[in-house]
Parts: sequence; C-alpha cells; structure tokens
Amino acid sequence: MSSINEIYRILEDIMAIDSPIGYTKKIESYVCDFLKNLGYEPQMCKVGGVYCDISEGDGEHLILTAHTDTLGAMVKEISGSGRLGITALGGLNANNIECENCKVYTRDNKVYTGTVQLKNASLHVNKSYNETKRDFDSVEVVLDYVVNSKEDVQNMGIEVGDIVAVDPRLVITDSGYIKSRFLDDKAGAAILLYLAKYIKEIKTDKKISLLFSANEEMGFGASLLSQKEADTLIAIDMGCVGDGLNGSEQKVSICAKDSGGPYNYEMVSKLVSICKEHNIDYSVDIYPAYGSDAETAIRAGMDIKFALIGMGVYASHGYERTHKDGMEGTWSLLKAYIEC
Ligand SMILES: [Zn+2]
Repeated sequence: MSSINEIYRILEDIMAIDSPIGYTKKIESYVCDFLKNLGYEPQMCKVGGVYCDISEGDGEHLILTAHTDTLGAMVKEISGSGRLGITALGGLNANNIECENCKVYTRDNKVYTGTVQLKNASLHVNKSYNETKRDFDSVEVVLDYVVNSKEDVQNMGIEVGDIVAVDPRLVITDSGYIKSRFLDDKAGAAILLYLAKYIKEIKTDKKISLLFSANEEMGFGASLLSQKEADTLIAIDMGCVGDGLNGSEQKVSICAKDSGGPYNYEMVSKLVSICKEHNIDYSVDIYPAYGSDAETAIRAGMDIKFALIGMGVYASHGYERTHKDGMEGTWSLLKAYIEC
C-alpha cells in the first residue's frame, strides 16, 4: 500500500473515534495500542496525551507533536421541551455547526444521536429565521428520540456536563481532496502514527520521540514537555490557507510567525532548504490568528528550537479541506528532515 493510502487508513480509524477536548481517553487508548502493537512503550500522560520514543539514535533529539483533541461541545442546560443547550469546547462556531448530526456521550457510557439546529428551525414557521444570529444561545441539540420534557431527557441519563461530538463527516474524493471537520489535527496525528510504523525504513541518527497531545485546543497540549529535555521540536498541525497567504491545500506550509510571534529562525530556514533540495512544493506564511503546541512547550519553559509545519487546510475550524498533495508534501518534508 502506498504511503498516502496507509495514512488515509489511519486517518479513517482515528476520525471514527470522537475526541472533543475534555473527552480524549478513547483516542489516547487507540494511540497507545497502535504504538504498543508496533513494539514501542508509550506513556499515557496524566494530564492527557501519549508520549513515546520511536528511535534511539545518539544525534539530535527531535520531538514531533500532533494533537488528537478536536473542537466539540458540552451540554449546558436541558430545556423544558427536551432540547439541549450547548456550550463550545475549544473554538467551535455555532454558525457553522447548524444542521450537523452529533452524538451525546453520557457519564454512564450511553451514546445518543441528535442534530444541532436553530431554535424554532422550521423556515415556514419562524419569520426571523434568516435574521437570527447563530450563537450558543440560538442553536440547540434536537435529540433523535421522542422527548417532550426535561424529565424525559434526564430519564435517558443525559445531564448537564455531558459531551457533544459533532459528526466529523470525513470524505476523500477521487480528485484528491480530503474533507472533514477535524483535519485539525487528525491529519497531523495520522502522519505521525504512520511515521511510527515506517521509522525503521528511514535512515537516521536522531533520537525521535512523539507526543500525541490531548489539550491543544485549550492551549496547553504540549506544556507537559517542560518535563522533558530535547534539542528540537516540530509541531505537525494544519497550515493556514486564505486571503493574503501563500499556502494552499496542495502544499506543505511552514509557519514563520503566528499570533504568538516568530518560530525558530534556524529551524524555518532549514525546513525551507530541505523543501528546495527535495523539490517539495511548500509555502512560508504568517498565520494571523493561530497558536500551536510548539509555542505551548516554549511557554512552559522548554529550552528547544521549535517549528510548525502542516498540510494547507482551508476553512479551518469549519468544514475543513486539504488535498492529497498537501498531505504527501508534509510527509515528504518530515521524512527528509529526519533523514538529513
Ligand atoms: Zn490544531
């Protein structure tokens, strides 16, 4: 099977495991089992996330990180008519989850389905349908069960604080596009899991460790790396695509600066020169409204050279889209960096 098809297979597996931030144990178990099956000894971190050494070279100690948590929601109230008010987990936007199917996970392990809808969602009834601002006061979850009261819903075992996971809607088209709500950052995590499988076919003197973080969308995913020592850190997370930027879904994007400031100058320069040397289609960009787990590690006090790369993703934190070429470019850059 080709590299990209292997990465797709892993992506499909991890996309099928709902992992809104705050509810990541299932995906952490999947990642742990995946790594154990390859013969590694992954560590489950208490704060969330999985850390694992995959190469024991005596050269540069490189940590690679991707995050497995996604945006999601939590039940904030149950209405008298049996609908669920929700609050965002991470930067979920009410105006782009309307009409999405979702699952409600209760604390006693029941799973129920529903749909996120505008309140009073019938266009033929609600005269202010078009004017209503979509926010977490105006949208609600309509459960796929006959419920007419708060008590009906509570009798199902649903309570305030339960997790709401929005349908990831993964689609891979024949033309090479990959669409899903949660390419951020399951696309990056799929590439790192693939690396764990194929590292033995790559020649390197580097010591390589992986962190699958679980709290990136809350801004502290990689802060636990302050307990570790290493030389370099590369976060694999989505690259920005939009007006004024050079990136595209067909390229690997190298971030020179984001909201938190510039990335390590030497690392960015090195990544650019590797792309040139290996004819990898890349862009260097400034991300106007972005933060990454690489910065999280620095802020937590890590003394390390840090960088951020990833496949270009359009419509980030919405219905995201990337392309096979951007995925392959990211894999090629990572592989070439490890081999250099
Ligand atoms: Zn991300």
